[in-house]
Amino acid sequence: MKIQPVQQKSLSEIVAGKIAALILEGEFLPNHQLPAERDLGVQLDVSRSSLREALKILGEHKLIEARPGVGWFVQPIEGSKFIKAQELAQSELRVTVHKEPSSTGERPPGPRRLPVTKDKPLKIPNLSKDRLGTFEFISWWERDKVAAAKVLVVGAGALGNEVVKNLTLMGVGQILIIDFDTIEAANLSRSVLFRETDNKKKKSQVVAARAKEINPNTKVQYLYGDVTTELGLGIIRRMDVIIGCLDNREARLEINRFAHWMGKPWVDGAIQELLGLVRVFVPGEGACYECTLTEQARRDLALRYSCPLLARQNILLGKVPTTPTTASIIGAMQSQEALKLIHGMEVPAGKVIHYNGLNNQMHTTAYTRRDDCESHWIYGDITELPLSAQTTTLKELLKIIKIDLGEEAVIELDQELVLKLECKHCNTTDNTISPMSQVSFEAGHCPNCGNMREVTMTHLITGEESFLGRTLASVGIPPLHILRANNTEEYRFYELTGDLEETLHFKHFENTVDQVPVRDRIKIGKPIKIKSPAQNPAAGKIKLKD
Ligand SMILES: [Zn+2]
Ligand SMILES: [Zn+2]
Repeated sequence: MKIQPVQQKSLSEIVAGKIAALILEGEFLPNHQLPAERDLGVQLDVSRSSLREALKILGEHKLIEARPGVGWFVQPIEGSKFIKAQELAQSELRVTVHKEPSSTGERPPGPRRLPVTKDKPLKIPNLSKDRLGTFEFISWWERDKVAAAKVLVVGAGALGNEVVKNLTLMGVGQILIIDFDTIEAANLSRSVLFRETDNKKKKSQVVAARAKEINPNTKVQYLYGDVTTELGLGIIRRMDVIIGCLDNREARLEINRFAHWMGKPWVDGAIQELLGLVRVFVPGEGACYECTLTEQARRDLALRYSCPLLARQNILLGKVPTTPTTASIIGAMQSQEALKLIHGMEVPAGKVIHYNGLNNQMHTTAYTRRDDCESHWIYGDITELPLSAQTTTLKELLKIIKIDLGEEAVIELDQELVLKLECKHCNTTDNTISPMSQVSFEAGHCPNCGNMREVTMTHLITGEESFLGRTLASVGIPPLHILRANNTEEYRFYELTGDLEETLHFKHFENTVDQVPVRDRIKIGKPIKIKSPAQNPAAGKIKLKD
């Protein structure tokens, strides 16, 4: 049998303990004045002299401070002061703080939780069964909103790893990850989700698989491809937030345009050594990414028009030194901004948060919105067509569009289409019809003399082309894309909704694919069949620049 030591505490120590407990509970707040001695004495049911002795003890431990002529003020309770306050309050805390039942019977004493807001009634979660249970205590976290959220993570490198890890831990319901790269040894030093055995595997696939491991309730999907050319706009359209974990300007610019066109917010992150930045762009609220580009950056980007194949090659080769520490700081901030967006909370739209790990400084600067910025388009109503990029030909699509917009209607491609490669030295012409992304820098050279060939490209399909029998996919239009057409007076928008089920499903690594209830499938509206112009409900009107 254990013998408990007899406690030898003076009355004033007990009173000091009671007051310390009330401070820890939050009954008496830091920097606020304690009640007058007379009132406090009545409240605690002690004599004036015991109370004064108790206040002196608390004062010696710097838990409270006397201001001559005014009274006693509670001091901020941190570090060693917190421990002292706990010690003093020990006998009291057992009765005053442990009000809630808990499974273990023990709960460390500490400041009282923030009051529960009216909007969020307090639920007592089962922490032994509910993985997200502790989040119920976060005043702003809303389980249903987070579970319903669809988030697109672009890039599965160091930042993408961190972001997906955080989103998964926080209970985000649907995550789609796109990346065109495979894992190599050097990625292992800064990517929390990669393992040595993942060498040569697709980054997006491994990140998705690990997310599913972390939280099997998360629905994941991965796309192995280039975000600038292989991501249908219909995917962006169905997302709540897009998080850019990119390492190049070109891809950022594309994501910025896509997000803006679809009216979706996106969170950009960038890291280099110990520096990082986070930016939230919300269409219609302040500057967009393109607004932030300097004249020099614009000139660099213009390079792709003068020598597109080379520019593309350089982007793919660009490597920036990064560290796992900066990646986790910036990735965490990006995830947090995304969660705020999901909750409809305020975000620093159109601003940049700079983080400098060398001196641990952070500062926020606002960008100026440019009225002449080319990204500031938002698509109008979208006509959903029951068509697929794989099976529909340019001719078939043009027919529908011309019924809708008139004979002069043309399709505007988002990716340049290479029509021919000409060698001026050898006088040879290669009539290749390929999307620019599929023509390598090497292929740009003449196979005979090795000189750079002249590239003829277009981004318009008028109906005069000789290759109208080609499928949309073969000219670089991704599945579930939303195409843009105009008749010189207005733009209308057409989605390849026939691709929806296969293209956006969030069903990777689900063991019970067949059991996934239908309501989990994404369906926006009903596909529209166009038979005659009169029946066509397309109302997606955007006037050409006025
Ligand atoms: Zn802009
Ligand atoms: Zn040649």
